[in-house]
Amino acid sequence: MTQTRSDIAPIHVIGGGMAGSEAAWQAASMGVPVVLHEMRPERPTDAHQTDGLAELVCSNSFRSDDHETNAVGLLHWEMRQAGGLIIGAGDRNSLPAGGALAVDRDAFSAEVTATLEAHPLVTIERGEVPGLPPADWDSVIVATGPLTSPALADAIRGLTGDDGLAFFDAIAPIVHAESVDLSKAWFQSRYDKGETEEERTAYLNCPMSREQYEAFIDALLAAPKTEFKEWEGTPYFEGCLPIEVMAERGRETLRYGPLKPVGLTNPHDPTVKPHAIVQLRKENALGTLFNIVGFQTKMKYAAQTEVFRMIPGLEEARFARLGGIHRNTFLNSPRLLDGAMRLKADPRLRFAGQVTGVEGYVESAAMGLLAGRLAAAERLGAPLVAPPPTTAIGALLNHITSGAEASTFQPMNVNFGLFPPLEAPLKGGRRGKRDRARAYAERAKDHWLDWLGARAAA
Ligand SMILES: Cc1cc2nc3c(=O)[nH]c(=O)nc-3n(C[C@H](O)[C@H](O)[C@H](O)COP(=O)(O)OP(=O)(O)OC[C@H]3O[C@@H](n4cnc5c(N)ncnc54)[C@H](O)[C@@H]3O)c2cc1C
Repeated sequence: MTQTRSDIAPIHVIGGGMAGSEAAWQAASMGVPVVLHEMRPERPTDAHQTDGLAELVCSNSFRSDDHETNAVGLLHWEMRQAGGLIIGAGDRNSLPAGGALAVDRDAFSAEVTATLEAHPLVTIERGEVPGLPPADWDSVIVATGPLTSPALADAIRGLTGDDGLAFFDAIAPIVHAESVDLSKAWFQSRYDKGETEEERTAYLNCPMSREQYEAFIDALLAAPKTEFKEWEGTPYFEGCLPIEVMAERGRETLRYGPLKPVGLTNPHDPTVKPHAIVQLRKENALGTLFNIVGFQTKMKYAAQTEVFRMIPGLEEARFARLGGIHRNTFLNSPRLLDGAMRLKADPRLRFAGQVTGVEGYVESAAMGLLAGRLAAAERLGAPLVAPPPTTAIGALLNHITSGAEASTFQPMNVNFGLFPPLEAPLKGGRRGKRDRARAYAERAKDHWLDWLGARAAA
């Protein structure tokens, strides 16, 4: 065990996964002592196999490394500029994987563990934090991930209320609004309900004829599905059954459920009553992303794309993320966290990683990076303003703390739909999807370097 500096009180980081390891590294790199609490090996989780820090529990991929046109590649870039430990160890232990960043998981985890063990300002304590931290831990980063230990999860739930902390996600696919064909779909809320024009046109509607509906049900029933892991159980609630389970209950079930064709008139063909209507609801305040209402699913990803593109208006849909249902502990962050990732009900507790409602290794590490910097700056008496939502890390932060709709909040991967639209038209005749992505990435890089104060070094 290493000695911490006595003139600055330590920040306590709970959880030595992707987020917690990065948070500890960032805070210590800013000169603030950190105590990192990791419960493994004393207390295992259902998915981790080792006692290493930053263990990758499933795939060994950090996904695309294309920082010029891909949002997750851009996240890699921003983390590299910020001296990230996770991305640095990923780079140093990478394996050939085409345009993706894949890593040797054992060497990667070993490097993260050794680096933190060797840092003079980091103390690693092995053991579960089995409830709310003691009162004298005045700055805490909770980074306990999707498999937060039950004792701590229960204690957090005591602070947040029953609907503040979920134990499963039930994700409906999310579509980029600009990829919906508005010559077939239209904006309207059922029975034109709402006080304002915005409310009366809150949903995007996709009409189906009888033939289209029947073919869609056949495809849903035939599609390959993912099994739950043994330890996950089958977390179905009647309110959010997977769409294919509803279809299995009867071919008409969906027409009386999420696809009911009532209270809506198709302006493209007002005299024909659709047999069924699929509705999409705004996912973020920017209105760039829409989720397909009631379409949580266990269908395999490839099948989802194929089946959902059968829906009239979604033939060319681009998915910001596909649907799923998993064991996943996460907060209702838009309601519970402030803009600096602190719990409004107890601001000494800051949250980071997948427990905040981001999804994926890279996104979790990115939120750890930010939480570590915010906590350390606060500790040093010079609080940071959050990075702008035009950056990849800022866009994720903005989404989880304010941009997402709290009542339907589900975990999110990074994607350009989370970024504010470009202020100016693309220059030099550029106008395709890739050009737009490139422009988002260029703007993000500028703003990230500004935020880091690192422009001179770029
Ligand atoms: C089965 C499964 C498969 C996944 N597959 C992928 C994938 O292929 N690709 C991908 O990008 N993402 C995947 N994910 C999501 C993945 O977990 C996250 O992306 C990422 O690991 C989350 O990082 P994190 O730091 O938030 O949590 P973790 O990496 O899980 O770290 C949390 C740490 O906190 C510790 N901990 C928990 N409670 C306590 C406590 N009370 N006291 C002390 N320590 C505690 C845990 O032991 C763990 O080490 C998967 C998740 C699961 C559950």
